Amino acid sequence: MYSYTGKILHIDVTNQKTHVQEVSADWLKKYVGGVGMAARLAYDNIPAGCDPLGPDNALCFACSVFAGTTMPVGTKHGVASKSPLTGLIGDSLSGSHFSEMFRRAGWDGLVFKGQSPNWVIVFIDDDHVQFLDATRFLGMGTTETQQAIREWLGDENIRVSSIGPGGENLVRYATIDNDGRQAGRTGNGTVMGSKRIKAIAVRGTHPITVADPQGMMAETLKLIKTSQGASTQKYRILGTPTNVLNMNKMGTLPTRNFSETVFEHAEQVSGEYMKEHFTQKSVGCSGCSIACEQWAAVKEGKYKGAIAGLDYESLFALGPNCGIGELPPIIYLSRLCDDLGMDTMSTGVVVSWAMECYERGILSKEECDGLELNFGNDEAAVALVNKIAKREGIGNLLAEGTKRASEQVGKGSEHFAMQSKGLELPGYDVRGMKTFAAGLAVGTRGSCHNRSLAYELDVKGVVDRFKGEAGRGPLMKEKEEFAAVFDSLVLCKFLRNCFDDFWQDAARIYTMTTGIEMTPQELEQLGERVCNLKKAFNIREGWTKEDDWLPGRVLGDPMPSGPGKGVFVTPDELRVMIDDYYAARGWTSDGLIPRSKLVELGLEDIADEIGVDEPMAAAKEA
Ligand code: SF4
Repeated sequence: MYSYTGKILHIDVTNQKTHVQEVSADWLKKYVGGVGMAARLAYDNIPAGCDPLGPDNALCFACSVFAGTTMPVGTKHGVASKSPLTGLIGDSLSGSHFSEMFRRAGWDGLVFKGQSPNWVIVFIDDDHVQFLDATRFLGMGTTETQQAIREWLGDENIRVSSIGPGGENLVRYATIDNDGRQAGRTGNGTVMGSKRIKAIAVRGTHPITVADPQGMMAETLKLIKTSQGASTQKYRILGTPTNVLNMNKMGTLPTRNFSETVFEHAEQVSGEYMKEHFTQKSVGCSGCSIACEQWAAVKEGKYKGAIAGLDYESLFALGPNCGIGELPPIIYLSRLCDDLGMDTMSTGVVVSWAMECYERGILSKEECDGLELNFGNDEAAVALVNKIAKREGIGNLLAEGTKRASEQVGKGSEHFAMQSKGLELPGYDVRGMKTFAAGLAVGTRGSCHNRSLAYELDVKGVVDRFKGEAGRGPLMKEKEEFAAVFDSLVLCKFLRNCFDDFWQDAARIYTMTTGIEMTPQELEQLGERVCNLKKAFNIREGWTKEDDWLPGRVLGDPMPSGPGKGVFVTPDELRVMIDDYYAARGWTSDGLIPRSKLVELGLEDIADEIGVDEPMAAAKEA
């Protein structure tokens, strides 16, 4: 076996014990790495019904098979646990130097269980694991923590994944940061905080070998060349902030907590404006030939000195969606969230929800700790983000996430709590992108643009974006599985249009890397397997069909302006698309997985646990 080591390191932080699980080449081929492997480790190591913040939850890391090889944009890893935000599978991706060091240390995966009595740094030094006192690092931001640990251990080559104050204080959407990249969204940083792990430091000294170095080099050079071509131009020049003006033109730029879809200050927060006035340089993850991240710096004014790698999702959430129409506070807020270790998207959406509550009189100034939480009040937003990280005053409510906060406040605020399954919506007003609306509703980790990719169908005009109708299910399925393959290999999705024939090319490169034969058909089945595996996790946790749904605002409030003025997703339209998706997946009309489907995907053991027998499924449907 090449690249892989066939070893998963299990670390119990309660009693500081470790053990090594050996996995076969067949097992590795089945789950590959990243999200696929992390989800399988989560399924196997998390008992159903456990408290996401208790010792029984497992925090699972799985390396990309390409980490540390010459393959561009493949130095990444996946993380999975039971999400404290959704109560379902919480899978994330991150990348860069930590992923490579993780591979060099000799592990395909890491599984953390238990709950340490004291705050620790887990130092994985090849196959030697130490538990170090983390007291001196508590309260530190993520970047500072990583550098301080390297200095403390006296080795600049050590790579560190750490949480910030948000994770320490169990903000439900805390991230795990490494090298300025974040495993974000579903609260994996919160799970790490609940285990009292401030950081994971890794030093690896093993070489990474591939089965066919010459073949790999040829494929690498070809991909580096195509990744410098037209298909990645927008990422290389403006990065994802280029989406601001595109979304605004389509009338789908979430503005003021999704109450509007066109932002009057879109120009001033656009990728184009950022490039001209704020961008210092484009930055890439380790091993990246595209370098999409735009490092933007504020040179004057009250946010002078702020610097952040700003992407579209952070920008929409902390900018237009909070009614903030200037880049300096958005750059500042993005950096603040990254340092505090909190997901920028969830933070922006929960802050915008609080702003709408304030403007509607649902939350008073007194209840907001004296803050005037009007849309566009950037100073109040900054104060609020700091309060969330400390769980101080109103921040304690917002640290619970939009769903829980709105259920606690009530007074109709649930209608405009922009979340699905507890995860805050991404930066697209899906009233004007109806196939993507259904794609968000069925997402296993909640509403997610990275796991669905159905937005491409609406944006590229493959379907009528203002219509929700039967026939969308197979397209949604295909996009979801394509994403799952990328997330399991792991490859950055910005490479997705650089292949001649993705399935042929990717299967061949996987074989060149690992020495394990993979066919294009087997790779396609991996996508379906991973989607079903994650769904199986959710079913075991008590998922029901009612969980696949969207907020009241999407399903009842017409868009106030733009090309889609007057449009919204009707509940009937959404139901039709979701039913169509279940049928395309071969699931029952209740969204459950037949036993035969799980067996077909090689998930026999899971079939025994959650698979529905066909006669029973038919009876239930009748
Ligand atoms: S394209 Fe962007 S996100 Fe993807 S690997 Fe490169 S820098 Fe990282």
